[in-house]
Amino acid sequence: MSTIFTDVAVTSSYVAGRWTALEGTTQQPIINPANGETLATLPYGSASDVDRAARDAHRAWMEWREVPVVDRVQPLYRFKALLEKNVREVATILTRENGKTFEDAQTEVKRGIQMVEVACGMPSLMMGDSLNDVAKGIDCRTIRQPIGVCAGITPFNFPAMVPLWMYPFAIAAGNTFLLKPSERVPMTPTRVVELLLEAGLPAGVIQLVHGGREVVEALLAHPLIKAISFVGSSPVAKIVYKEAAAHGKRVQALGGAKNHLVVMPDADLPQTVDAILGSAFGAAGQRCLAGSVLVPVGEVAEPLLKLLVEKAKALKLGDGMEDGVSVGPLVGADQKKRVVDYIEKGVAEGAQAILDGRGVEADPEGAFVGPTVLDHVGRSATVAREEIFGPVLSVVRAETLDDAIAVVNASEFGNTTTIYTKSGKAAREYQSRIEVGMVGVNMTVSAPMAFFPFAGWKNSFFGDLHAHGKDAVAFYTEQKVLMTRWF
Ligand code: NAD
Repeated sequence: MSTIFTDVAVTSSYVAGRWTALEGTTQQPIINPANGETLATLPYGSASDVDRAARDAHRAWMEWREVPVVDRVQPLYRFKALLEKNVREVATILTRENGKTFEDAQTEVKRGIQMVEVACGMPSLMMGDSLNDVAKGIDCRTIRQPIGVCAGITPFNFPAMVPLWMYPFAIAAGNTFLLKPSERVPMTPTRVVELLLEAGLPAGVIQLVHGGREVVEALLAHPLIKAISFVGSSPVAKIVYKEAAAHGKRVQALGGAKNHLVVMPDADLPQTVDAILGSAFGAAGQRCLAGSVLVPVGEVAEPLLKLLVEKAKALKLGDGMEDGVSVGPLVGADQKKRVVDYIEKGVAEGAQAILDGRGVEADPEGAFVGPTVLDHVGRSATVAREEIFGPVLSVVRAETLDDAIAVVNASEFGNTTTIYTKSGKAAREYQSRIEVGMVGVNMTVSAPMAFFPFAGWKNSFFGDLHAHGKDAVAFYTEQKVLMTRWF
């Protein structure tokens, strides 16, 4: 078992039914980004570990696919109960390795539990269609069958929830699953897999191989792996999509984002500002659904920015385990440097930092950047176009709703967006014309629940079937049409 609470513990992988510290060439220290403390060491796996895991998952699949779906979901019911019992423990690990606040971490675990709940409905979700007498004496029906060994590659920002977008659905549908979590935050997904095994999932149905690029490349090429689910940045999502498809695999690859928040002149200002604060600065801006470009329309800009900066200044920065903290650290020193570099570039390209989070330190050893608002950002400026993934809001002013829609639709990304308005007509028009996958009206974060699909458009998504909801059932199954005539 992984011993994640000893001093500088080793985070194990789970391969072929055994917990094991893999012997790849890299030993990565896992650092608490709030204070620089070393929490654990992560030994990376190699291509040969992927091969062992894939073979064992394939062996397990030959039996698991024969288990009736009502029996396959029983360990998931127990898993859900164990997750509920251990929300605080999992969230503590999550806050310590990722940095997000403890409240946010608990919410993440609870959203993950909802995925398990929905996957428990697989007996109904997997049902096919049937019609008798499609021609005289001929009946037709569709069935859904599992596809085999599926793999998931996940990012650092939701280490509990994003893997749960994948394997509960895959496993309930009769597949076996190989998970490669982010090497930055391996402890949370490891603890969650421990709970899944404690729930009685047969050995081999889940495999956990930690590591980096070598492990990912081995997954994309392995002949026994039939489907790849990826969530992470767009450049990697694009590579994963191409490589996995070139190897004949089914693939869904969710990428990065640059999300716009459009504020109409008639918006309810205090409530809109609260929503923008949560969207842009919650989780220190490290959400794929974080608001990143603020687009005030017309004369609303001045009063909106005044109130926004006033309230943003009052947000408490600090260790996510402390009470009252609403902005934790970034995931690491490299991410902090990346964000600070973007702020510098924004200012160099002509933006005005009306709130500057550089140098705002809650702990000198931590990876902190305070909430930042860059005003008068040009439409083609770097900070208007590229994903920063930090607590930085770029303000691009628009004249009219049409103008705002043009700003948003010019983006290469299309993950989420929100319009703030009291006008149903403006909201309806926005929802209809905007080239974005998840669209909110007066929302803080428009994260679809487990029973709806989740994914963006354009460079935010490569594939056809989205994450969770009915799309996950379609993604993790193969459809067959059966036609019958009796002589
Ligand atoms: P990342 O792309 O750096 O890493 C994601 C995964 O890919 C990790 O498991 C990592 O080990 C692997 N990886 C990284 N570089 C690789 C390479 N060159 N070759 C093969 N594998 C590689 O992403 P991240 O920094 O962990 O996460 C943040 C990103 O994820 C942001 O861009 C964010 O918008 C995105 N994200 C998107 C969604 C969504 O639903 N669209 C959700 C969460 C996060």
